[in-house]
Amino acid sequence: MPTDHPDACPCGRGPAFADCCGRFTGTGLPAPDAQSLMRSRYSAFVRGDVAHPLATWHASTRPAKLDLEPGVKWLGLQVRAHRLVDAEHAEVEFVARSRSAGRGQRLHERSRFVREGGAWYYVDGDFITKDRP
Ligand SMILES: [Zn+2]
Repeated sequence: MPTDHPDACPCGRGPAFADCCGRFTGTGLPAPDAQSLMRSRYSAFVRGDVAHPLATWHASTRPAKLDLEPGVKWLGLQVRAHRLVDAEHAEVEFVARSRSAGRGQRLHERSRFVREGGAWYYVDGDFITKDRP
């Protein structure tokens, strides 16, 4: 996969943001499945866009506001599993790597998504800590 694209998608599926997650961030076009939504939320966050993650956060769990952590550099996203529980519920397991103050960090989460009115929403997630880095 080319990584030298001038506007490579942060989610790694790429190649270009505009043809990947950019189709769903700020366009009002709903992501077709939970994995695509997971990727677009990550990519928006990496690009400093908190509006998209908030807009696709289910109203029952959505925080009032979302702050970008200063100094955090996101390095990549790996989607480990995408499981459709039923037509309206899905789970996505992912690992997101970042670097902050020279230290590598790793977020491993199983996220729950629900579909309402034809659009997927992030509900919540569980951190997975049992595997080793
Ligand atoms: Zn993408």
